[in-house]
Amino acid sequence: MEKSSIDPSFIDIEENLKVINERIAQAAVRSGRKPEDVHLMAVTKTVDSARINHAIKSGIDLIGENRVQEFLEKEPELNLDGVSPHLIGHLQSNKVKKIIGKVDVIQSVDSLSIANEIAKQARNHGITQKILIEVNVGNEESKFGFDIHETEEKTEEIAEIDGIRVCGLMCVAPICENNLKLLNIFENMYKLFIDIDSKKRDNIYMDFLSMGMSGDYETAILGGANLVRVGSAIFGPRIYTDKH
Ligand SMILES: *Cc1c(COP(=O)(O)O)cnc(C)c1O
Repeated sequence: MEKSSIDPSFIDIEENLKVINERIAQAAVRSGRKPEDVHLMAVTKTVDSARINHAIKSGIDLIGENRVQEFLEKEPELNLDGVSPHLIGHLQSNKVKKIIGKVDVIQSVDSLSIANEIAKQARNHGITQKILIEVNVGNEESKFGFDIHETEEKTEEIAEIDGIRVCGLMCVAPICENNLKLLNIFENMYKLFIDIDSKKRDNIYMDFLSMGMSGDYETAILGGANLVRVGSAIFGPRIYTDKH
């Protein structure tokens, strides 16, 4: 991974958040919704606790971590009062036990077997774990998630497992230079989201449509996202160390 030459201490988190919130508000209004209908998640992978706390102090109430171990290491140092943490990275089954009950939502449920393991550990903890179903919307080999055509069926199957509650869908869109094509991809996700919601199945609550990142969150909102996951546009380019 290429190292960034930008010193993170020069990144103005508060100013970045101001700009992003403004853009989110504009995109929300353009899509016929209110600014407060779209949630901004700060994606905190590789970001140290002090900077995460700074973002929280600046108004962030939703954070997303990719890795279980990294989240557990930082968690004791975070001021999570009133903040909802989500897991957004691919989850290995041997890590499930450690994260159950520590995050409000596991967004990255990308297989039936991981859903079963999450449910099992949740039952052991006496809780119901909220999850989102990850969709590989661009049908990319390098990405996790269900094929868009099988998502509805799998979502229904997963919703029947005791110990979890399906609360929506998430995706990472393919890199796409053509903005109309990208918008179309997000709209396909939205259609699926509405379709599944309209069936009113037991244990399926389509609360979150989680899509859009630093490079495409406005397009995602125009396509129907109500939760955008933004990392580098808030915190600056990620600096990877050997630990991550
Ligand atoms: C890293 C990451 C993001 C944020 O990416 P940026 O481009 O830095 O905004 C969002 N979602 C997932 C699943 C990620 O892994």
